[in-house]
Amino acid sequence: MNEGSFPRPARRFDGVGFSEIVRVRNRVMDLLAAGQKVWRFEGGEPWMNTPEAVKAAMGDALARNQTRYAPSSGIPELRRAILAKARDRNGIPADDESPVVVNGGMQGLFAAFAALLDPGDEVLMFSPYWTPIADLIAYHEAKAVLVPTGPARRDGLTAALAQRVTARTRVLYWNCPNNPTGDVFSRREVEEVAAFARERNLAVVSDEAYEDLVYEGEPNVAIASLPGMYDRTITAFTLSKSYSMTGWRLGYVIAPKRYQSAVKTVLLYTTNGVSTPTQWAAVEALARGTDYVAEWKPGYRDRRDRLAAGLTAAGFELETPRAALYLFPKYPAWLGSDSREAARTLLDEAKIATVPGIVFGPEGEGHLRFSFSVSNEMIAGGVAALTAFASQSTGARR
Ligand code: PMP
Repeated sequence: MNEGSFPRPARRFDGVGFSEIVRVRNRVMDLLAAGQKVWRFEGGEPWMNTPEAVKAAMGDALARNQTRYAPSSGIPELRRAILAKARDRNGIPADDESPVVVNGGMQGLFAAFAALLDPGDEVLMFSPYWTPIADLIAYHEAKAVLVPTGPARRDGLTAALAQRVTARTRVLYWNCPNNPTGDVFSRREVEEVAAFARERNLAVVSDEAYEDLVYEGEPNVAIASLPGMYDRTITAFTLSKSYSMTGWRLGYVIAPKRYQSAVKTVLLYTTNGVSTPTQWAAVEALARGTDYVAEWKPGYRDRRDRLAAGLTAAGFELETPRAALYLFPKYPAWLGSDSREAARTLLDEAKIATVPGIVFGPEGEGHLRFSFSVSNEMIAGGVAALTAFASQSTGARR
């Protein structure tokens, strides 16, 4: 017997990357373990703790022994609350069976792509995009076809999509508000993309993880709320950002009749549902609607504006985003010749952790992602460190 010979892992994984953001985090952990102070802007979670009432609701569920198997698609109380929210707040004409409770937005997206994609299918998506999406598509042996957002918004969304659609295009992935740019498409733009999806008979996977984190102007428009869109759209929502519940792993999908069985099947054979006490906490969270996030918004806005001012003063170029948790500026040329080098320079020499723009697609090159959802001390200290580093670096070059 050949001792060194073992079956290889499934070929499906050959094209699937493992998050580069995790690599940045590991490097930060090494620096922290070595006793260094690191100004951390590489993350992506709310700076607030989970509300006390939500935590208490989980405790109450435990005290009531709500600890047994629940229906795989979710407890009826939570599914009813989600249905009401999707109809009233998002304007989605959701049917009674459409809500499926999942383990965070990530599992919702996984289930959506699993429900829709065959090997060889193509998925249209705007770029920059949230890194894991390309890997989720690769996992399903389909192909991501990128549509550069900036030029498309300037020159026409329909033309940009039409240029890249093929006979193999089956799905359009839509992420609004966007990670990493914080862009929110206008209602007119959402209508234009929806019209394209209807005309070309595409299914839509809509990722609305940041729906509640819009700080100014028009609120987010759920693409499934537009005429003729519900029946072709799977929308992935999450409590992670809206309720400061990233670690709870609680999200939900709104899926129309034809896709419900596939989504539920993925759930059944992966996690067989979300932990029952966690679902009771989610019932409490949803009962408060957008009250919590309304309370937190001034804090987000303030952090965003202070970090934006600090970056601008240090020579970064940016437009203040309307939504989400991130600034995605162009970095000054002296930081590096590409975004990986720029991020490395900032981390090694100024102890400032960011994510290189290239991990969000080729359209992200030239940028760095900074999360402004950090403590006030982190903003103040990080901006001071950046200012000092910028004046030292540009001074040295004069
Ligand atoms: N979509 C986008 C665009 C995100 O940025 C995230 C989280 N960073 C998610 C979905 C998933 O979030 P979660 O799995 O925590 O619900």
